[in-house]
Amino acid sequence: MHLRPTKIICIGRNYAAHAAELGNEVPKEPLIFLKPPSSLIRDGESIRLPTVSKQVEYEGEIGVVVSHPLRRASRDQAGAAVGGIVAANDVTARDLQKSDGQWTRAKGFDTFCAVGAVGPAPSDLSSLTVTTRVNGSVRQSGRASSMVFDIPAILSFISGIMTLEPGDLVLTGTPDGVGKLAPGDVVEVEIAGVSRVSNPVTDA
Ligand code: MG
Repeated sequence: MHLRPTKIICIGRNYAAHAAELGNEVPKEPLIFLKPPSSLIRDGESIRLPTVSKQVEYEGEIGVVVSHPLRRASRDQAGAAVGGIVAANDVTARDLQKSDGQWTRAKGFDTFCAVGAVGPAPSDLSSLTVTTRVNGSVRQSGRASSMVFDIPAILSFISGIMTLEPGDLVLTGTPDGVGKLAPGDVVEVEIAGVSRVSNPVTDA
């Protein structure tokens, strides 16, 4: 499956431990935001640190690729539209996220959405795990079973707002352990047995 999303929809604060580490509450409904498709890079491409930020951080996430159109979908319909899974890095300029209030700039720089090859979705989506390594050492380790809102709930919720098109990409939130990237780092996100993406980090 070739990945060419019309939009990238992301979930914020979908793991309680990550919400807590940044001093936030868990939202009562899924908290969604968009990243532009122009932010996409693939395995091996460089994440470039913009000069306007002093704190660019990795966020390893489970990415879902939508297989067919979804509009006002039920939970079951949404679950049936999971076409594949990608390892994803929702790269974030944390200082700009805080100072701007809304997140488009902080989340939207070129190279700020790294994704691996599309792998198969398991029959039990809650069995997925995500691990982030920086320079080979583990920084994040999460499992889909710890999500506040699970994958079918997320897709159903989004489809009540905007039509999901085949190939659209949904990033399902990051577990705790986020941290800063520096030039020369190599950051890797792995969905065990399904997909991985590894990217060097460079100055802009
Ligand atoms: Mg994120």
